[in-house]
Amino acid sequence: MDKHLTLALAGNPNSGKTTMYNSLTGARQRVGNYPGITVEHREGDARHNGHELTIVDLPGTYSLTAYTPEELVARDYIVERRPQAVVNILDATSLERNLYLSLQFMELGVPVVLALNMMDAVRKQGKEIDTALLSQRLGLPVVETVARTGDGKDQLMEEAIRFAQEKQGEWAPLAISYGPDLDPVIDEMVAEVEKKAFLANRAPARWVAIKYLENDEQVIKMGERKDPETAAVLIKMAESVARHCRSTLKISPESLIADYRYGYIAALMKEGVVRAVRPQARLQFSDQLDKVLTQQFMGPAIMVGILYTIFFATFTLGEIPMGWVENFFAWFSDVATAVLPEGLLQSLVVDGIIGGVGGVLGFVPLIMVMFMMIAFLEDSGYMARMAYMMDRVMRAFGLHGSSVMPFIVSGGIAGGCAVPGVMATRTLRSPKEKLATVLTAPFMSCGAKVPVIILISAAFFENSASVMFWTVLGGWAAALVVAKLLRSTVIKGESTPFVMELPPYRMPTLRGLLIHTWERAWSYIKKAGTVILGISILIWAMMTFPGLPENETAQYASQRTVAESTLSADALEARLSEIDNLESQHALKHSVAGRIGTGMESLTQLAGFDWRTNIALLGGFAAKEVIVSTLGTAYSLGEVDAEEAEGLSTRLAADPSWSVATAVALLVFVMLYAPCFVTVVVIARETSWKWATFSVVFNTGFAFVLSVMAYQVTRAIMGG
Ligand code: GDP
Ligand code: MG
Repeated sequence: MDKHLTLALAGNPNSGKTTMYNSLTGARQRVGNYPGITVEHREGDARHNGHELTIVDLPGTYSLTAYTPEELVARDYIVERRPQAVVNILDATSLERNLYLSLQFMELGVPVVLALNMMDAVRKQGKEIDTALLSQRLGLPVVETVARTGDGKDQLMEEAIRFAQEKQGEWAPLAISYGPDLDPVIDEMVAEVEKKAFLANRAPARWVAIKYLENDEQVIKMGERKDPETAAVLIKMAESVARHCRSTLKISPESLIADYRYGYIAALMKEGVVRAVRPQARLQFSDQLDKVLTQQFMGPAIMVGILYTIFFATFTLGEIPMGWVENFFAWFSDVATAVLPEGLLQSLVVDGIIGGVGGVLGFVPLIMVMFMMIAFLEDSGYMARMAYMMDRVMRAFGLHGSSVMPFIVSGGIAGGCAVPGVMATRTLRSPKEKLATVLTAPFMSCGAKVPVIILISAAFFENSASVMFWTVLGGWAAALVVAKLLRSTVIKGESTPFVMELPPYRMPTLRGLLIHTWERAWSYIKKAGTVILGISILIWAMMTFPGLPENETAQYASQRTVAESTLSADALEARLSEIDNLESQHALKHSVAGRIGTGMESLTQLAGFDWRTNIALLGGFAAKEVIVSTLGTAYSLGEVDAEEAEGLSTRLAADPSWSVATAVALLVFVMLYAPCFVTVVVIARETSWKWATFSVVFNTGFAFVLSVMAYQVTRAIMGG
């Protein structure tokens, strides 16, 4: 008798897998990553009735498709390593959803034992689960457990060992019917797979066929490698039935398959697997609440209200600690200015380092407040409702119901910020929709673009409010249209079949909220900090070097001396600051950034931008606020804040190289061009440097084309 067995723990995230794993293995654990990816791999030993057990804690997944690295890891482990049994941990309080994964293990055929975990919570809800019925219908052992206390874990091991020994490594796949459209094709595909022994000894034929229908990239690629001929036949069959499904049922085979799986589970539940022992106050409450909160007209209205409140709260609450951080860095740079001698070192420390790091840490309070709000929405169950209500609209653009939140946070209401916005995409489970959201959220009207909008509209338009309104709307339009564009080109692919689950409303715990918030903020500080420091020093250097040659600075110095000896005290001050400003304008033009700006003039003239605007836009890559202040320097007005931009706007309005067409073009460009580099770093963290680079290059190109069009069209209309 084989005394050593490997058991793999699998289940949805938060079902209690790790708790069960710890309770089974105690301290005898090994932790590592799966080769090449950062998904945790944990193994430990346990002993039960003389059996040596290796327990593997697989990553939490909702399904066994190849949508996420976790799903792939879990699936590969089972297919390649063939554990003697899978111990599937289910959160029994949402049995129906959790069974979706169980069903996929059963379709794969691996011996699986169900642990209905969280039974304490189920009982508290006044419910009872008919384990015997479930076990009989599914043909596998079902054990009730409470991982937290260890209840049922011995029985679970007992059943797992017994079942594993009974099965002797034999896999017995379950064949579910996928309806009149798919079933015949599946049969044909199975025949083909069996005839050619295609991907044999990996997975059951029916499973391989279904993967082809589900368009599973990994299986398809592997098939092409091992047997391209058969693979081509299968792909053809899958494509033709996909076309058929789309034209007759308006649905993809993937979604159809998901529907039938849920149908199977729903039918099982209807047989009375779960019984309410006493009426459930909490669920009734949820139902009542949903009658209002997801009602056809009132629902969206309330949602807008809640989103607005959250947005407002994030930025007003966030502003307070943000002010502290800003004050601290202001104080710090004052100290550094006082301590260090005037010159390059001072400029590097104050403008380059303290300015850069301060800029990064300034976002931390905002991120924390926002994640707290999001965690609250998620834990309370409202997020699911929001996604549910928005899903249809967003889906039309290749996005997801949950894309709304990142858009809003990024500046879907003027004044947001794409840094927390991009991080908010973590609530999106499907990678393609997430990527499309990450790449388009920076089009929104973030707080740093607002001063630019105000400046331009004060100079060239009568009604600032309506300019603001149209730019915000323009941001949304750009985000949605580009999302659609990306989803039909570079991020092509079916939407991930999305299961609309409306979990009961719950009151989140403060502790949970705080822990999640801190974890996310810390990873931002740690990872973004280093890269951002480097880039801010680089940008500082580009705007500083090379300095003016000595004879030039000497000329300004002599102008100062002349002024000092000829002017009265009142006139002197004005004259001196005028000279300072002229000198910094000159130095800026002379710097690397200035030379780039000048060099690009012949191209950017197509959109009406001269070298000054170009430098400002280059600086805007550091942070969009820098656009206004750099324009100030370039037009030799000295430092310009958003609040005191009046002088600048008068100057722009009077400048012969500016016109309404330039203004429109600049607005378009600022709204759409490369995200600021903090956002770029965050995009790289959430996706990859490849996509972060894409967002810089694509957005800038897109912005330029549109602003040239805006410039030329406006000029043609205005006859200027
Ligand atoms: P995993 O994501 O599947 O690894 O889940 P964890 O083991 O991290 O558990 C998620 C949460 O559920 C934790 O807060 C656990 O303390 C809790 N939990 C685990 N098992 C039980 C249980 O049987 N009953 C209750 N009430 N809570 C549980
Ligand atoms: Mg875990």
